[in-house]
Amino acid sequence: MSDTILDIRELSVGYGRKGLALDSVSFSIPRHAIVGLLGANGAGKTTLIRSITGLLKINGGHVVSGSVAFDGQPVLGLPAHKRVGLGLAQSPEGRMVFSRMTVEENLMVGAAMLPRSRQDEGLSSIYRFFPRLKERHRQIAGLLSGGEQQMLALGRALISRPKLLLVDELSLGLAPILVNEIYGELGRIARSLGTTMLVVEQNAHVALKYVDTIHVLDRGSIGYSGTAEEAAGSEAMKRAYLGEG
Ligand code: ATP
Repeated sequence: MSDTILDIRELSVGYGRKGLALDSVSFSIPRHAIVGLLGANGAGKTTLIRSITGLLKINGGHVVSGSVAFDGQPVLGLPAHKRVGLGLAQSPEGRMVFSRMTVEENLMVGAAMLPRSRQDEGLSSIYRFFPRLKERHRQIAGLLSGGEQQMLALGRALISRPKLLLVDELSLGLAPILVNEIYGELGRIARSLGTTMLVVEQNAHVALKYVDTIHVLDRGSIGYSGTAEEAAGSEAMKRAYLGEG
C-alpha cells in the first residue's frame, strides 16, 4: 500500500474557450494527513474538487490533460458514484442535508453503503463524535441550525468511513466559535479513524490552525505549498495570501 492516497499530476482543466481554470496543477496527499487547499474567489478550488469527485462535467468543465490517481487507481475516466465506491466522500455536497428527513434518516442515507451489520456501529460512532446530533436525532434536519447542518453533512459523509474526505468551505456563514468547534472535531475524527482530509478554505487563518500542509491555488496554478508551520512564518505567504505585511 503506497503512502500516497491522492496524486494529481499536471492537471489542466478548461471551460470551453475561456482559457484554463487549472493550469498544470500537481500535488499529492499522504495517507492520514489533513491538507488545506486555499485560494481566493475564482482561483480554481471548485474546479479542482470537481475534478477529484467526478462532478466536473455537470458544470461544463473538461480535463485538458494530466492525471488524478486515487489510492493508486487512475480515476479521471470514472463516474462520480464509482469514485464514492472507492472511498472518496465530499461534505457538504449539493444542498447539504435532506431537509424534510430526520437527522437519523439523513445519517442512514450515508450508511446505506455499509453492510447491514455495520450500520448501527457507524451510527453510534457518528453520535460519539457529534453528541449534538444524537440529542437531535429525531428532529427534522431543515430545522437544525447552520452549524448543526454542517455537522450532519459531515456525519453523513463520514459514516461510510471514506478513505479521503473532501471538506468544502466549512466556515462559510458560520460563527467563528462553531468553525473552531467543528474543525477541532474533524481533527479528532481524522486521528481516531485514520481518515485523510482535503480541506478547502477561503479563510487562510482558520486553515493554518488545523491542517498539516497547505497548497494555495492562485489563478489556476499552485502559488505556494508548505507545512502550515512554514506557511505561518513565510513572508511571501503573509504578503500574498494572508493580507499582512
Ligand atoms: P469560488 O471560491 O468563488 O467558488 P473557486 O476558487 O472555486 O472560486 P472556480 O469556481 O473553480 O474557482 O473557478 C475557476 C475559474 O473557472 C474562474 O475563472 C471561473 O470563472 C471559471 N469557471 C468556473 N466554472 C465555470 C463555468 N461553468 N463556465 C465557465 N467558466 C467557469
